[in-house]
Amino acid sequence: MFKYRSPELSEVRLQDGFLAPRQHSNGKVTIPSSVRQCKDTGRIDAFRLQWRPGMPKKPHIYWDSDFAKVLEGMALQLMIEPNPELAAELDEYVDLVISAQQPDGFLNTYFTQVEPDKRWDRLITNHQLYCAGHLMEAAVAHFQATGQRKFLDCMCRYADYIATVFGPEPNQKKGYCGHEEIELALCKLYDATGEKRYLKLAEFFVNTRGQAPNYFQTEEGVAEDYLPVVQAHRPVREQQTAEGHAVRAVYLYCAMADLAARTGDAVLLTRCEEIWKNITEKRMYLTGGIGSTPINERFTCDYHLPHDGYAESCASIGLIFFTRRMLNLTGKACYADVLEQILYNGALSGISLEGDRFFYVNRLEVGADTWERGATYVRERCPWFFCSCCPTSFCRFLPQMGTFCWSYAPQELRLEIPAAGQAQFRNCQIKVQSQYPYDGKIRITFHGQEQFTFSCRVPGWCKQASVSLNGQDQSSQQLQNGCFSWSRLWQNGDVVELTLDMPVEIVRADLRVSSCQGKVALQRGPLVYAVEGLDNAADPGALLLDLETTWQFEPVQGLPEGTLGLRGKGWKEVLPNDRGLYFSATPQYEETSILAVPYALWQNRGDARMSVWLRCTKGC
Ligand SMILES: [Zn+2]
Repeated sequence: MFKYRSPELSEVRLQDGFLAPRQHSNGKVTIPSSVRQCKDTGRIDAFRLQWRPGMPKKPHIYWDSDFAKVLEGMALQLMIEPNPELAAELDEYVDLVISAQQPDGFLNTYFTQVEPDKRWDRLITNHQLYCAGHLMEAAVAHFQATGQRKFLDCMCRYADYIATVFGPEPNQKKGYCGHEEIELALCKLYDATGEKRYLKLAEFFVNTRGQAPNYFQTEEGVAEDYLPVVQAHRPVREQQTAEGHAVRAVYLYCAMADLAARTGDAVLLTRCEEIWKNITEKRMYLTGGIGSTPINERFTCDYHLPHDGYAESCASIGLIFFTRRMLNLTGKACYADVLEQILYNGALSGISLEGDRFFYVNRLEVGADTWERGATYVRERCPWFFCSCCPTSFCRFLPQMGTFCWSYAPQELRLEIPAAGQAQFRNCQIKVQSQYPYDGKIRITFHGQEQFTFSCRVPGWCKQASVSLNGQDQSSQQLQNGCFSWSRLWQNGDVVELTLDMPVEIVRADLRVSSCQGKVALQRGPLVYAVEGLDNAADPGALLLDLETTWQFEPVQGLPEGTLGLRGKGWKEVLPNDRGLYFSATPQYEETSILAVPYALWQNRGDARMSVWLRCTKGC
């Protein structure tokens, strides 16, 4: 039922200055540092099954998922950057994981060593099936990267064992995991093996969720008001809004989209479309972050988007995965628009430029009053977390970024995001040259001869675009689903030149978003900008942007070559010295300039005061 497919990692390559360096640092820094953290914390040794009560580094219920995501990242990274040392290391770790499998197929370090008699207790909190799902995804990636079946076969044995425990038969559990993940992983296992039983098990978990009698209530005594947190408050076919824990939610929606694509289930597709609209029209930050509160890391209500909300890195990445599936299913441009919005902003903000520090929480404002809480709800990126889902998410997300730029159909190649790079489509190699996302001039060159439809998307943020084919203006062409498109026999040396106008846009929010009332944000191309304290004369909260300013683009010291900052005119609000918390004296305003930098790059030069939404003067 897919209209398009994502390209294989081997079919596309990024060569731009914004995304590709993150991929290189994934291989050089992010993966090695994550492996080191997994080693130091005991996550790897846990698979040796030598932990005994009283020993340090007691395994934790979600440790397996962290290491599994690193393994998946290693396999995906090998597909974009061959590296014999990394391949050897991966092979060693895969053997170690396989060695931890129990004779019946079970594979979980915590429930093998720490609580072996409680394998399937408390599905609501214990992450057993979640960990299994991440191991399955790692195994599929390992199979794709190496062609070896050992890890895949191991995880098939685990899935087969799980299928004996869970299912519709009277002697089987009717439960499902409190943290979705296995559902989408089983769809991947089905794709990799062609074994229908894995798709059936995924369907069972998705279809059983939220059915009455509610498993979590009857078997685990969970309070009814907690059920929305785990998307179990009603059957998934009756869910029309995004509820609960944001990462769990988007992983469920990924699986619903996967099932819709593989079974033709029109109801699931409709629910996915409705939920996606609810997220992106009412519950998503301008940066593509989701989940507005640290309380249960969850969605709250429509338009509740406080600047110090949660926006977990994993949730943005998960929303990209869900959105990519919807783009493949429908081919609609709105999905590519949002995918691009998340990718260039709220996803990459989660990782430092060096690749070894991470935000769990991606706030849109950090100031003097920013409240830090626990290890995750903090002002600056950290190298690791006790619950280290976010760093390990980047290990597997970064290698996939090139695949988000293209959509493949049997007779059509579509350029979704014109980052410099290349794609192989049948016998044709297509090269994209650009300074995207900082410049809208795109040159696309064809190498080889092939008959197909080539489409290039004009992003939703772009109000004026022109295009030419081999020097002939084609701008009068009607956009089809947001794309310029040509069906022809492409010849060696053909050139499409696309120009996307990229002025600075002043963005406002719906008045129902109270946190944004009276404020504006800056966007240029796909990039949302942020104002950092260290570039400016005052904290961002003391600055007022002059909306009639003319903008200048300039390099930013300490950020990568090619980065363009936006400089405009503004005012600094100066309060009287002898005031209290509240006062009636009139502030003074001093003219100043304001420099804004891409939100995705903030907090890479120390300091930690930042705002995306700014106060302004004139017409605001
Ligand atoms: Zn996370």
